[in-house]
Amino acid sequence: MSALMPTYAPADLAFEKGEGVYLYTADGRRFLDFCAGIAVNCMGHAHPHLVEALTEQAKKVWHVSNLYTIPGQIKLADRLAAASFADRVFFSNSGAEALEGSIKIARKYQKDHGHPERFRIIACENAFHGRTLATIAAAGQAKLLEGFTPVVDGFSQVAFGNLNEMRAAVTDETAAILVEPVQGEGGLRAAPEGYLQGLRDLCDEFGLLLMFDEVQCGMGRTGKLFAHEWAGVTPDVVATAKGIGGGFPLGAILTTEAAGVLGVGNHGTTYGGNPLAMAVGGAVLDELLKDGFLDHVVAVGETLGRALSALVEKFPTVFVEARGQGLMQGIKLVEGIVNRDFKTELEGAGLLVAPAGDNVLRLLPPLIIEDSHVTEAIAIFETVAARHI
Ligand code: PLP
Repeated sequence: MSALMPTYAPADLAFEKGEGVYLYTADGRRFLDFCAGIAVNCMGHAHPHLVEALTEQAKKVWHVSNLYTIPGQIKLADRLAAASFADRVFFSNSGAEALEGSIKIARKYQKDHGHPERFRIIACENAFHGRTLATIAAAGQAKLLEGFTPVVDGFSQVAFGNLNEMRAAVTDETAAILVEPVQGEGGLRAAPEGYLQGLRDLCDEFGLLLMFDEVQCGMGRTGKLFAHEWAGVTPDVVATAKGIGGGFPLGAILTTEAAGVLGVGNHGTTYGGNPLAMAVGGAVLDELLKDGFLDHVVAVGETLGRALSALVEKFPTVFVEARGQGLMQGIKLVEGIVNRDFKTELEGAGLLVAPAGDNVLRLLPPLIIEDSHVTEAIAIFETVAARHI
């Protein structure tokens, strides 16, 4: 038995190399990757510009710590700010850390404004914010909290998309609202029309911070740099990760000037924003911000969404519903077919996808896919679906 702690139940698949939207096993089998490391490899595998950025930086300096100035941080923070609502950026290594920092910001912001009693954060049911003690408390899901009580104090959850419930949950102790504009792990649900704007109004009315978790739906995945941009809403804080590093561990907290309350000594990380991460993050942003790139995500996302809806129509005894935004799409299976089993069958036929809650399969391909890859993926779905009718 391996010494590896059994925290995962991985598929019996190991990949030796990747190229574009395909992964290859050592024995030469090819897989179309519509999982992308769970919405991470936004530029696919071995993208020449990312490889060059990483290897060039690797020859110079890998890590120095935040005791020293890292010019790449200043540059990437300025570029992210210029391309978004943000004035301030903090670099972390992962999504959960970006969320932890955001939670600290909510508490410190209220304390700085004379309200130390406001420390509670309202989040949503079926949310996912990471695996640290505070982020599992924020999501509040029993399956995440099991075995880890006492639960970190200061979080409650209301139904996603329900403004009345959110309003009713606000108390004198509320500091912030934390929401994923498109829920990922919870089963691929996009915020209903008007929801994010309604949250903005609520936050303004009660002096709360509006915080979006864009770890999964951010960095171009929905066809805008950040998913909240579709709603025309300006948040106070956004936590992001996954796609921002294209496969190199990187996360970020973006804030407005007013919410940029973390100063010297308030927060930190040894690795966060190290030269390697900044080199790759810069290369990812070069690609994301190229003329027409996000339009391409919108177009191919529409192709994928339409194709999935057609699948549901063609196999009504297998699929219930297709839903999602851009290249963050999901398809829900009927009760009798378990999403994880179907995922294994798809793998057997050469297609990688990710499971989610609510018996949904998530399609989170690299943002560089073309319509031909959608056709290829749908053909594999059809082959597997046909076995179930
Ligand atoms: N928030 C959301 C919406 C996520 O999807 C995830 C990871 O899946 C996280 C936070 C946690 O990110 P990480 O696994 O990098 O800690």
